Amino acid sequence: MEKIPLLVPLMPTTDQALPYFRQIDGNRHYTNFGPLSRELEQRIANDLSIPQAGVTTVSNCTVGLELALQARGLRAGANVLLPSLTFVATATAVSRVGLQPVIADIDEAGWSLTPAIARRAAELHRIDAVMPVATFGRPQDMAAWDDFERETGIPVIVDAAGAYGNQTAGSVADVVFSFHATKSFGAAEGGAVISPDAERIQHIRMLSNFGLDTRNGALTDLGTNGKMSEYHCALGLASFDMWERVKTDRRALYAGYMARLRSACPSLIFQEKPEDGVYPLMAVLLPQGRDATAVGSAVAANGVETRRWYTPALHQQPALRDCVVAGALDIATTLAGRIIGLPFFLGITDAQIDTVCSALARELDS
Ligand SMILES: *Cc1c(COP(=O)(O)O)cnc(C)c1O
Repeated sequence: MEKIPLLVPLMPTTDQALPYFRQIDGNRHYTNFGPLSRELEQRIANDLSIPQAGVTTVSNCTVGLELALQARGLRAGANVLLPSLTFVATATAVSRVGLQPVIADIDEAGWSLTPAIARRAAELHRIDAVMPVATFGRPQDMAAWDDFERETGIPVIVDAAGAYGNQTAGSVADVVFSFHATKSFGAAEGGAVISPDAERIQHIRMLSNFGLDTRNGALTDLGTNGKMSEYHCALGLASFDMWERVKTDRRALYAGYMARLRSACPSLIFQEKPEDGVYPLMAVLLPQGRDATAVGSAVAANGVETRRWYTPALHQQPALRDCVVAGALDIATTLAGRIIGLPFFLGITDAQIDTVCSALARELDS
């Protein structure tokens, strides 16, 4: 029986990256904000229509989130609100810079922490920062978060790890992207912090270089090593060379896949998000009463690999047991057991999508 994998990363080939690797050979500059990192930051800035001073590359999104939080100068133990339905890195980033995760519910349509949920949480708890998540590549409404930060004074940092290609920059709030191989825009490992505040970007850049002020060698803040190497930037630049095609292909794949799922499995529920998005994965919600583990094992009998994203939810994770919870987490709790990730990658064939849809349809009809 043919196995259909959940995900096959799309990265530039060695040949596609070779011209950039050769530049590194010539430059003999291997990391520490070399010419390729400058070029990558320029291309990111152009792509997002923001000034280059509003971008700094980082070794990965998790470190980017940590440094973006640290740069806000919050007191030790300050409360950071985040959604219950997210990858664990959103929470570990908060804890590892000495802040307290406060876990909030999500909205039923978008599966996200919204400004309305954050406003309600801030009435129940002291909230010192908010970290909304562009869950499953669904972009966060930056105008709404900019208003939230402007009105409440509470800093907002969006974890847009998997949303490069969909998420826009803020005019007040910050955004952090991942360039992990499994996301829509890959550099194997890497990421970028985007801020409208150029001074904050300079601070984050310094924090990603241990907190050293390179002009005088003074350690002005306690940072870490969060730099993106020139080799990783080379892969990012090669990813940009194929980005237009990848965007087109991912959009077409998502639209075609959704049409088939809708007709084959009418009881499935979908996250409300732009139909023309550039998505790295396909996560769907099973109808009430169905369990993602049971459905996952049933379709595995047809060779279909699935994944339970993100289960257990944050507030059910052993290491986060002592976290503060802001209000009831009813929606996150009911959705978490029913969200299932289906095979989704560039190169999946129509026949494979048909196999996924019919295996799922058979199981849902039973
Ligand atoms: C992938 C992901 C991360 C981690 O990104 P890295 O670049 O691997 O550190 C963080 N948050 C979310 C929501 C993610 O999907």
